[in-house]
This record gives sequence, structure tokens and C-alpha cells, in this order.
Amino acid sequence: MSERREREPNSEGRVIVVSGPSGVGKGTLLKRLFAETDFPLVSSVSATTRSPRPGEENGVHYWFLTRDEFLARRERGDFLESFEVYPGGAWYGTPRETVERAVAAGKWVVLEIDVKGARSVLEKIPDATSIFIEPPSIDSLRERLIGRGSETPEEIEKRVAQAREEIDNSSFYGYRVENDDLDVALAETIEILKRDAARRGDAKNANQSTERA
Ligand code: ADP
Ligand code: 5GP
Repeated sequence: MSERREREPNSEGRVIVVSGPSGVGKGTLLKRLFAETDFPLVSSVSATTRSPRPGEENGVHYWFLTRDEFLARRERGDFLESFEVYPGGAWYGTPRETVERAVAAGKWVVLEIDVKGARSVLEKIPDATSIFIEPPSIDSLRERLIGRGSETPEEIEKRVAQAREEIDNSSFYGYRVENDDLDVALAETIEILKRDAARRGDAKNANQSTERA
């Protein structure tokens, strides 16, 4: 069954792809977007083979799978897209069925995925909204990763190198938001979603009051 056919019963359901280098603040920005707006947003919970960070819960932040389990599911076609985000590193994938169900139910499903995954999703769902979150500079990105304190120095340098590559390959996104001042980045993201809703004839969400933001 095609994604488009499944979406027809409710034209307001949609996929929103959000990418940006690790540490740019995607999680922080999206948390506020969910908390401070009334858009019908839901997060897609990805599957991954990486280990949970302190505080991360299975089924909430990710579905944490063994490599064998992940590859078996991938083989079965359970993922809308899946990639080894860091070469030789962990696998990440978007569960297909939960996304399709949520879109059919009229939800705005947010996929926080890497550039390769985003490209693959946009090939399958060309009318998905795509937003690339940029850091003010590579140095500020490194500082945020250090500040988060969840990766080793070696992992941080790997992510910084990957960031350069992601930024260089991000010209296909529909929108870009610089996350320098978080409040400004949030306001810009809300504007993008409202404008996009207007373009789709979704007056309710286009005119949504976002005074809390
Ligand atoms: P990502 O989800 O993109 O990997 P996080 O949301 O975990 O990134 O953010 C990485 C770190 O940067 C966190 O410590 C977060 O508090 C911080 N951060 C997020 N946005 C900003 C910002 N606009 N200015 C400064 N620090 C920020
Ligand atoms: P982290 O390990 O910091 O949570 O995520 C590392 C990278 O993997 C981030 O760029 C994140 O956006 C990406 N990612 C998370 N889930 C998925 C997914 O399901 N698919 C793809 N392609 N990338 C993902």
C-alpha cells in the first residue's frame, strides 16, 4: 500500500522531517515545540542499536535493539528508512507502521533523523515538510556536545566531522533554521509550520495561537 493512499482519508496528517548535526539542539527545540504549541504533533520513536544514555527509556527516546534484531526487522521491511548514521557505528531506523498509522489518524509525525534518512524519506513522501537545524558555527556545536557531557572526546570529534558533511549535504531541505538563540529558532520553526499549514489549506493550524511560545 502506498503512503499517499493511506493518507487520503485525513488530508491533515503529515510527516515533518527534522535534521541537523548531533548536538545542534534538535531535541531541546522539539521539546519546546511540543510543549508550547497545539499542533497535532507526535514523535516517531526510532529504533537504534546504540546503547541508551543515562535517562533514556526504551520505547520513549528510542527502541533499543540488538544488532541482530535490528537487521532482522530491516530485512522484513519494517523500516521506512534505516542507516548506519556513523560509518561502522550504530544503526538507526524509522518504524514504518507507526508512522503510517499516525499520519492516517491526522497527526503531524516528527521524524528526527539524519540527512541520509531524510533524503530517503523525501523520495518516498515528497510532500513531507523538511527542516534542517544549523549551528551558528562548528565551534559552538563542539561546545554544546562537550556541555551535554554524553559522549567521549573521541565520539565528539566523530560527530563534529559528521556535522560538516551533513551541513554540506543539506541543500535539499525545504527550510533551514539556525539555532543560535533558542527562542528565535523556536519562533521560526513555528512560523514554518504555520506557513506550511496555510499552503495545505489547513486554516485551523495556520492560524493557531502560539502565545505560550
Ligand atoms: P541534539 O538533539 O541536536 O543532539 P540537544 O538538544 O541534546 O541536541 O542539545 C545539545 C546541547 O546543546 C544541550 O546541552 C542543550 O542544552 C544545548 N543547547 C540547545 N540549544 C541551544 C542553544 N540555542 N544555545 C546554547 N545551547 C543550546
Ligand atoms: P543520537 O545518537 O545523538 O540520538 O542520534 C544520532 C543521529 O542519528 C542524529 O543525527 C539523529 O537525528 C539520527 N537518527 C535518530 N534516529 C534516526 C532514524 O530513525 N533514522 C536515521 N536515518 N537517523 C536517525
